[in-house]
Amino acid sequence: MKKTLWSWLLAAAMLLPTLSTPAWAVGYTQTRYPIVLVHGLLGFDNIGPVGYWYGIPSALRDGGAQVYVAQVSAANSTEVRGEQLLTQVQQILAITGASKVNLIGHSHGGPTSRYVASVRPDLVASVTTVGGVNKGSKVADAITGALPPGSVGSTVFNSIVGAVGTIIDFLSGGSGLPQNGSAAIQAQTTATMASFNAAHPEGVPATYCGEGAYQARGVSYFSWSGATPYTNIFDALDPALALTSLAFSGEKNDGLVASCSTHLGHVIRDDYAMNHLDEVNQTIGLVNIFETNPVTLFRQHANRLQGMGL
Ligand code: CA
Repeated sequence: MKKTLWSWLLAAAMLLPTLSTPAWAVGYTQTRYPIVLVHGLLGFDNIGPVGYWYGIPSALRDGGAQVYVAQVSAANSTEVRGEQLLTQVQQILAITGASKVNLIGHSHGGPTSRYVASVRPDLVASVTTVGGVNKGSKVADAITGALPPGSVGSTVFNSIVGAVGTIIDFLSGGSGLPQNGSAAIQAQTTATMASFNAAHPEGVPATYCGEGAYQARGVSYFSWSGATPYTNIFDALDPALALTSLAFSGEKNDGLVASCSTHLGHVIRDDYAMNHLDEVNQTIGLVNIFETNPVTLFRQHANRLQGMGL
């Protein structure tokens, strides 16, 4: 009996070194490369880039991921924001010693991340856009007067403009915003994004509502989005999103971006019962209680990247 036990222990001891990185010891969200979260239009002032991703960085870190929250201009062209992000990615690589990063961008942070992957694909393992304005936003079109004449009535138009103002004021603390808002909105029109996509086509679907290449120039591309503008009666911003959703004339959207416009690379899903702010667990965790929690989606995605060796 004793002898059997000893031989079992010996065998176990010999096996141990081969299990030096057992699968069960790797955290659920522990990716090979650091994750960099890239905010959209509203990532500044009292919300700030960290609070913008409400509860998301900590949830990813708890599962073992290295997470960095980028801070780029709240309102500027995709290219200017992209250059700022590139500098930060290079700093993160220098700090961590990693060779690449996984970029996850929300809203205008999507195209911003795509810019970096397009100009420096060697530094990027993956780009994921969440509610990404990849083919522009009809809300931006409406505000800049680029929607086809007669597509929305003037009353609806005024409601949309007012609602966008409400959202921007609320999330930014209300200081010096109109100029910021309009500058950012110009960058996100359908026309501006069409030129951007011509210059940076990686992962962009060839058809309006299709999927794009899952991998381009060594970078993996993913996207997801919501498609329910009004989700929680306690969220003060939901009525505003219900109004901005009128710009889409019935097309599936999250309040600010059409589902089809968010498509990039591998489309994980484009119809979560979430609005544009729920996608980043805003406002302060007030999301649709009948839908998967947005934080869970980020954790699942980190696990997906881990499974792909990214
Ligand atoms: Ca919400």
